[in-house]
Amino acid sequence: MIADCCGWSELAGETRKFPELRQRQTADLAIVGAGFTGLAAARRYGELKPEARILLIDAKRIGQGASARNSGFAVANESPGHSRLHTIEGLASYQTMNRLDHAGVEELRRLIALHNIQCQWEDTGSIHAAHDPRNFDKLRHHVAAFKKLGVDAQLLEADVLQGRLGTSFYKLGVESRGGALVQPAMLVKGLLESLPPNVECYENTPVQSIEHAGKGWALSLPNGLVQATQVIVSVNAVFPRLGFKSMRVFPLALTASLTRPLTEQEEAEINQPPSWGILSPRSLGATMRLTKDRRILIRNTGEYRPSGISLKMLAERRKLHADGLTKRFSFLNDSAIDYTWSGTIGISRNSKPVFEEAAPGLFLCGCYNASGVSRGTIMGRLISDLTLGASSSLLDDVLTLKKPNLIPPRPLFDPVAKVKLHLERSAALTER
Ligand SMILES: Cc1cc2nc3c(=O)[nH]c(=O)nc-3n(C[C@H](O)[C@H](O)[C@H](O)COP(=O)(O)OP(=O)(O)OC[C@H]3O[C@@H](n4cnc5c(N)ncnc54)[C@H](O)[C@@H]3O)c2cc1C
Repeated sequence: MIADCCGWSELAGETRKFPELRQRQTADLAIVGAGFTGLAAARRYGELKPEARILLIDAKRIGQGASARNSGFAVANESPGHSRLHTIEGLASYQTMNRLDHAGVEELRRLIALHNIQCQWEDTGSIHAAHDPRNFDKLRHHVAAFKKLGVDAQLLEADVLQGRLGTSFYKLGVESRGGALVQPAMLVKGLLESLPPNVECYENTPVQSIEHAGKGWALSLPNGLVQATQVIVSVNAVFPRLGFKSMRVFPLALTASLTRPLTEQEEAEINQPPSWGILSPRSLGATMRLTKDRRILIRNTGEYRPSGISLKMLAERRKLHADGLTKRFSFLNDSAIDYTWSGTIGISRNSKPVFEEAAPGLFLCGCYNASGVSRGTIMGRLISDLTLGASSSLLDDVLTLKKPNLIPPRPLFDPVAKVKLHLERSAALTER
């Protein structure tokens, strides 16, 4: 039977172990969820208030959630495909998100240099590329929109793509600069190991409820209780499980596979191109990477499964990954896959993040669709600024963003989501 095994985490090696949080504890700040958002929030708060007691609590091992399980694109220029750039409000909103994403990439660059984090960071940017001529108009729209927005982007024709990628699968692409590619589990590990000393980390400690108590908040744990003056909740897809945003945020389960390193002969066949990252103009088309350590990553599924992906389903998704690999590189098939895993992201209907003080002293931050590497890093930092009353133009920017749109309550929502995703999957079939 296949195991759900994140290749990035396996290859990143041992991560430091932290205890479970037990008994009664008091803190200035408790952060629930230690992905990119929680890590960034903890760092910022710790830097601004070095005397504060900060508890960073995760339900699982820290660094094993979506933040380690993603495709490793530190996105600077989100696809303009779904933005309503023809309205003044849509354009302003895209530009705000773009400023945030660039700031997130910059912040990661700064931290990686400052703490010498080894995470295979490469300033490679990304290419939105299509195989199917029916998606070419989307790409032409992308490049026109990028140029209008002042993003450094260019159209790439089939022969150029073949030279750059080593496959003739893609027929048209749009390259945009500013973002980077990274080994996400190594990045999370480095961020975790460089937190300020007043951040205490706890893992395997699922927070069960958060309730107003006295002058702050009480967090109940399986074997303890935390009384904190302020709380930041950064649990991404599972906000609803803690009683937040159940009519604004829903989970999307993604699966990915990573191959073994390419052989010398395979490298010769594709002319040893430098690392690359491909995104699809269709939201459920394949994300592909040639990594710094010369493996190929593929992520070509996305589905609404609130109860997660079983191992049987994961084995079926792996077949889809193998098909996607073979279509692009005839020498790769199922036997070339070393690791296959699933992960869950938080989605909102209008792609807007959650960022707010939900009640005095209780802050929520997360839900970035599939752009949480850079966005989680910057928004986590900004949510701590908000808790401490710090001001900045970026914080003002975030506060102007629209909130996530309402979705129907469950179970009404389930068939709607399934049908919508089924239609998008069908439209993306030729790009998987
Ligand atoms: C396969 C895949 C590919 C992706 N590709 C990309 C990509 O290339 N680029 C990109 O930018 N983004 C990508 N994403 C999305 C990205 O990973 C997320 O946006 C990002 O991880 C969000 O960070 P976060 O800290 O907000 O949430 P998460 O990383 O989800 O962290 C939330 C944490 O909260 C913890 N938690 C949950 N409930 C509780 C509780 N009750 N108590 C305590 N802790 C709790 C979880 O264990 C988890 O560690 C991808 C995601 C997946 C799954």
